[in-house]
Amino acid sequence: MVLGNIKEYTKELKEQFKERIAVIGDAPKLAIIQVGNVEASNRYIKNKVKDCEEVGIIADVYQYPEDITEIELCENIKLDQPHYDGVIVQLPLPPHIREKAVVAAIDPEKDVDGFHPDSPYAPATPGGIMKYLRACNFDLTGKDVVIIGRSNIVGKPLARMMTDADATVTLCHSKSKLSKHVYGCDLLVTAVGKAGFVNCYPLHMPIIDVGINFDENGKLCGDCFNTEGRDVTPVPGGVGLLTRAALLDNVIEAKARKCLKRG
Ligand code: NDP
Repeated sequence: MVLGNIKEYTKELKEQFKERIAVIGDAPKLAIIQVGNVEASNRYIKNKVKDCEEVGIIADVYQYPEDITEIELCENIKLDQPHYDGVIVQLPLPPHIREKAVVAAIDPEKDVDGFHPDSPYAPATPGGIMKYLRACNFDLTGKDVVIIGRSNIVGKPLARMMTDADATVTLCHSKSKLSKHVYGCDLLVTAVGKAGFVNCYPLHMPIIDVGINFDENGKLCGDCFNTEGRDVTPVPGGVGLLTRAALLDNVIEAKARKCLKRG
C-alpha cells in the first residue's frame, strides 16, 4: 500500500498546528460566512469550528438570512474582514448571489479557501491532497495521473498542481472515454459525486476518492466501491479530513504572513 493512514496523518498535523500557533504567540482568527440555513452547510461549519477550537484558532460564524442581497453581503464581508486573518464563505450560496462577486469582496490575502486568483493559498482539497501525497513519499515525477471531475475547486486546480509537480495529468469529465484513460495510470483521483461510480475491483493503482455521497441506505460513501484490498482513501475519514486540515494550515499561514508584514 502506498497511501498512508489519513486519520493518523491529520492527527499529527493538528499537533504541529498547535505548536505553530504557540510560536506565533497570538491566536489566528477566522470568519466563516454562511447564507441561509442549509443542513449540510451547518454540519460542515460545525466541523470547521470544532477543528479551529481544537488547534487554537478563533472561529466566528456570521449567519446571514437567505434573502440577503449580494450587495449587502459583500458590504458586510468588507466591513468585518479587517478583524480577521482569514475569511471563508460556505458554499453553496443561494442562486441570486454570485460566487464570483463574493470571492471578489474578500481580500485575496485573507482568502484562505484559495478561490481568488490572487490568493496566496492553495485551495483546501487539492492543497491537502498534494501535501498528503508528499507525506506518503508518493513522488509524482513522471507519473501518469487520471483525475475524473473538472470542477474549479477540485479537478482543475489539482491538475495544475500535479502538472507543476511533473506528473502527466489527464483531466476527465462526463464526455471522456474513461476506460481508455483509467487503465494503466499510476494514480487515479475521482471527484465525480456519484456513489458506486468507480469499481475498484479491476484497478490496482492507488486511488484518491474525493467524492462525498450517500448510498441507498443513507450511509456516507465516496465514488468508489469494491475497495476491499485496494489502496483507496476511505470515505468518511479520507479526503474530507485532508481538506479540513488544509484549511487550518492556510489560516495559520495567513496569521504568520500578517505578523511578518508587521515586522
Ligand atoms: P462537481 O460536482 O462540480 O462536478 C462533477 C464532475 O464530475 C464534473 O466535472 C463532471 O463532468 C464529472 N462527471 C459527472 N458524471 C461523470 C461521468 N459519468 N463520467 C465522468 N465524469 C463525470 O465537482 P466537485 O469537485 O464540486 O465535487 C465532486 C465530488 O467531490 C462531490 O461528491 C463533492 O461532494 C466532493 N467534494 C469533496 C470534498 C472533500 O473535502 N472530500 C471537497 C469538494 C468536493 P462535466 O464537467 O462534464 O459535467
